[in-house]
Amino acid sequence: MNDNQLLRYSRHILLDEIGIEGQEKILAANALVIGAGGLGSPVAFYLASAGMGRITLVDNDSVDLTNLQRQILHTTERVGQPKAESGKETLARINPEVEVVALKERVEGERLSELVRQASVVLDCSDNFATRHAVNRACVQHKVPLVSGAAIRMDGQISVFDTRGAESPCYACLFPPEQQFEEVLCSTMGVFAPLVGIIGTMQAAEALKLVADIGESLAGRLLLLDARNMEWTSIRVARNAACSVCG
Ligand SMILES: [Zn+2]
Repeated sequence: MNDNQLLRYSRHILLDEIGIEGQEKILAANALVIGAGGLGSPVAFYLASAGMGRITLVDNDSVDLTNLQRQILHTTERVGQPKAESGKETLARINPEVEVVALKERVEGERLSELVRQASVVLDCSDNFATRHAVNRACVQHKVPLVSGAAIRMDGQISVFDTRGAESPCYACLFPPEQQFEEVLCSTMGVFAPLVGIIGTMQAAEALKLVADIGESLAGRLLLLDARNMEWTSIRVARNAACSVCG
């Protein structure tokens, strides 16, 4: 780290849990962020400000006026622009040292697999089951930890799926792809603005802890937030031996 970096990251370096060694791990890490919307916004903000070495921001959509109530990476002037590009522009102002790769595409198949293989950590900030399952499959295949978040109406959830640990479940252990879940999309449902901030910020925290190797992650636990009453529930979740993805 040069003098400027020592200053920029000094409040991390002062932490016993991070220090110079931990900050160097963060600077050398590479995060894949799927979705530059409500969850992806706070995720990208904190990963960039904290010095994540490279952030690959994937989003197929463009900024819409209805996004601005909660998708804080984007601005009124950027309505109509690709979200990935808009996000890259915002992050460059916060921390120009971070390499941001903006991909305006819906990544799937081999392409997704290759991006996951190169990542130190993957953050699922998408809003649909098809993407969540595809990202989970690639993370299981390459044994890359997955920080998964979701938020709808006044309810949020977050967990870490890290199949490097033998006991740790994958996303499909909890939500089997064979099972039909009612798809509730933010694009048509309401969502409380700060809810995505709370969940996304926690996703960023878990990702930074994973790459800097700090404490215990949320692997094996699912946190549910009822924001009406601001109540958290923590549920222990185990690997499913019959899981069609990791079993
Ligand atoms: Zn599984």
